[in-house]
Amino acid sequence: MIDPAHPPPATDWHALDAERALAALDARATGLDESEVAERLERFGPNALPAAPPRSLLRRLGDQFHNLLIYVLLGAAVLATAIGHILDALVVLGVVLVNAAIGLVQEGRAERALDAIRKLMDPQTSVLRNGRRVRLRADRLVPGDIVLLEAGDRVPADLRLIQALGLRVEEAALTGESIPVDKQAGAVAADAALGERGSMAYSGTLVVAGHGRGVVAATGSASELGRIGNLLGSVQMLRTPLLRKMDAFSRRITGAILVAGIGLLAYAVLVTGRRWDEAFMIVVGFAVAAIPEGLPAVMTITLAVGVQRMAARHAVIRNLPAVETLGSVSVICSDKTGTLTRNEMMVVAIDAGDGSIDVQGEGYRPSGRLLTGATELDSAALQALAALARAACLCNDAELDLDEGHVQIHGDPMEAALLALAGKLGHPHERVRAANPRIDAVPFDARHRYMATLNRTPDGSCLAMLKGAPEQVLQMCRRQHAPAAARFDPADWQRRAETLAARGLRVLALAERHLPDPSGSFGATVSAGGFTLLGLVGLIDPPRGEAREAVAECRSAGIEVKMITGDHAGTAAAIARELGMHREPTVVVGAELDAMDAEALLLVARTASVFARTSPEHKLRLVQALQEDGRVVAMTGDGVNDAPALKRADVGVAMGQGGTEAAKAAAEMVLTDDNFATIVAAVREGRTVYDNLTKVIAWTLPTNGGEALVILIAVVLGLTLPVTPVQILWVNMVTAVALGLTLAFEPTEPGVMRRPPRPAGESLLQARLLWRIGFVSVLFVTAIFSMFHWAQVRQLPIEAARTMVVNTLVVLEIFYLFSVRYVHGASITWRGVLGTPAVLLGVATVTALQFAFTYVPIMQTLFGTRGLSFTDGIAIVGCGVAMLLVVEAEKWLLDRLPRSRTTAAGQGP
Ligand code: ATP
Repeated sequence: MIDPAHPPPATDWHALDAERALAALDARATGLDESEVAERLERFGPNALPAAPPRSLLRRLGDQFHNLLIYVLLGAAVLATAIGHILDALVVLGVVLVNAAIGLVQEGRAERALDAIRKLMDPQTSVLRNGRRVRLRADRLVPGDIVLLEAGDRVPADLRLIQALGLRVEEAALTGESIPVDKQAGAVAADAALGERGSMAYSGTLVVAGHGRGVVAATGSASELGRIGNLLGSVQMLRTPLLRKMDAFSRRITGAILVAGIGLLAYAVLVTGRRWDEAFMIVVGFAVAAIPEGLPAVMTITLAVGVQRMAARHAVIRNLPAVETLGSVSVICSDKTGTLTRNEMMVVAIDAGDGSIDVQGEGYRPSGRLLTGATELDSAALQALAALARAACLCNDAELDLDEGHVQIHGDPMEAALLALAGKLGHPHERVRAANPRIDAVPFDARHRYMATLNRTPDGSCLAMLKGAPEQVLQMCRRQHAPAAARFDPADWQRRAETLAARGLRVLALAERHLPDPSGSFGATVSAGGFTLLGLVGLIDPPRGEAREAVAECRSAGIEVKMITGDHAGTAAAIARELGMHREPTVVVGAELDAMDAEALLLVARTASVFARTSPEHKLRLVQALQEDGRVVAMTGDGVNDAPALKRADVGVAMGQGGTEAAKAAAEMVLTDDNFATIVAAVREGRTVYDNLTKVIAWTLPTNGGEALVILIAVVLGLTLPVTPVQILWVNMVTAVALGLTLAFEPTEPGVMRRPPRPAGESLLQARLLWRIGFVSVLFVTAIFSMFHWAQVRQLPIEAARTMVVNTLVVLEIFYLFSVRYVHGASITWRGVLGTPAVLLGVATVTALQFAFTYVPIMQTLFGTRGLSFTDGIAIVGCGVAMLLVVEAEKWLLDRLPRSRTTAAGQGP
């Protein structure tokens, strides 16, 4: 029994032999039972590293003030107090505080979104509990659990290995050494260094080859990883190249505006003879008007909203810049099995040499009819298939559970389908496995495309079983099981395999070899060949319905879809046709790719749509070729060997269910449903995010520009200011947040998947956007001076004139917001007018605040405002409507100019 107060020192486990380690941990090779697990979980706690301490509220609030604009504003408040403008100082302070509070809330929101998304990525592990293999979250592990490891797994806790078959582990996370080390179950010297403890697999390291099982010796912070003080990664902040660029841009603008402000101050005092304290407040107003202080925060939120939306659609972003890249993806290279197809397999055909047999049934249920033509198989024919059924059960790692009529599968669906077939042939796998225990195995490897096991038969002899891709297995066979009299003709069998493949079936060949006295390495024995072919099986794996629609969507969005599969060319081509990828797809097989030079490769990468019998190395070469061709590539992968291609791709996409931890670690995005359609949904969201970022910029910069120009012109021409500095502060505080932020929540525009992908690396500030900023700024200035002039002509008091101007400014911003919401189409539509809940809430809030600003006495004192008449109100709203019409007309005209057509169609505003 382990005494929790004195757990055995971690250093000892590797030196104990496996039996003693099991005994010391009070464990069994068949696993713990649920009550033991519950008790140990209580005693040792979950298998998790302690989380990094969160930043304190005070610290986070403090960080909000760490910003050049805030320093300027605080300085202004101090100076305003010093010269006796207490009211102005209070307003400035109010702005600073509101800004900080909003920043804090937004940052917290973004962090929480990312945190929730990280939780979706909790690693899973395979464990034996009570003799059954189960998959569970790694944090549910307890000391004494038996963990099953295979290539691609991340070791979930410190394990004393009790079995290792070709097991190789990369321990860089712990030792810094990136060359994988061999593992075995035998004890090593007590003083062996961490990197030399071949009998241990440590938490956080990565299995790169083979498989094995081990007993959990230490979990959570008691593991070696925990001992070196590792903490759970702290929250990742939303930082992407685009945001960094915008940050730098904002900083540059801020610097330039401050310099311009000093010039303006000097000009106002020296040239136009204003009082210097008045001039100072004007310059503060100018700076606040011109600096897009809210922009970086709103852009961050826009990205966070995008990441959240993607997660809700089963696409988990691991690496934030991928959100941007997704929008410009021009090729999606996808696996077939499970991604484009459902990975719900069923054997529907057998060819054991005497013609094709149809297999009927439903799902993984081990019952169903077997027919040749219209007649059911007789017992002699069934008897002839006994050896095939045996191989199907034994050369197989899957499990099939029959639970009150429900069939549950564990492991590879294709292997589970083989177990169902054995049941239909009258050989339940439990019985076959119990009678023929496994002695050794060569695990399936996508490179050699077969798997083999060595089993002891009831008569005491040994039998090697082989299953794999037909062309591979045929090469390793020397004779056939049936028809026994005929000569073994691999070419004939190859034709039979192709006939099955042409029906879109996945084809496997099964073979066996009697080994009276196996000696030497089993792997070498298998590769020496000499097997007897038992037959072929054909499995259906129907295409996913939604994948068909997604392929069509890609076509209209200018995105090419390429299938890169390990499967047979015939099967792949049939599925590609069913998916509507191509009527006559060009298929290239891996062996042909091997023979090609770079130029030929570039050509087929461009033209072919199906790549069959490929290995992970081919994926890497294809990604490179496509990238050289200027494409932005999304590539899917699941195996440990896919990691280099995933890393290389612009957007590496790992499978969340069927994928290895190694693939997930290398990917930018993980699909929690392994579905091709999810990649396309993520691309749509990626394009939406990019659109929304352009909308945020297209709205923010002209409103800032308009406000700043009004002050600039008034000062330079020595006119009465149409708005006071504190009024400008008010407008900025109210609108930037309540209006600008609503754009982060904009839904996908219709037609977003009907334009070509955005060129990679294209700047956000396109010529058309720059034109728009200038154009709208000028419209703002014209409207404001016209309204001010109209008020003065009617001899309204200056306070009322300024109140009109401020309200005009806000109304213009509201109407311009409605125009900006549709980058690629008209805004004056029923849908456009209705807006979204976010927009309506924003507009309602701003309107309420403006009424308060205009009519509430305290606000009138604070901001120097006056109540306005109904006619003034109508005129103000009329101004907004006119502005909307002019901007829409500009949009309409520019969309029809031949030169800007591509810009309008493919890019931002
Ligand atoms: P994709 O890359 O689209 O997911 P895939 O699953 O067919 O396709 P692989 O897993 O590399 O790709 O399989 C390639 C071939 O290897 C299969 O067509 C099959 O013939 C064979 N094969 C796959 N899994 C096994 C297995 N568990 N045992 C034996 N052979 C297998």
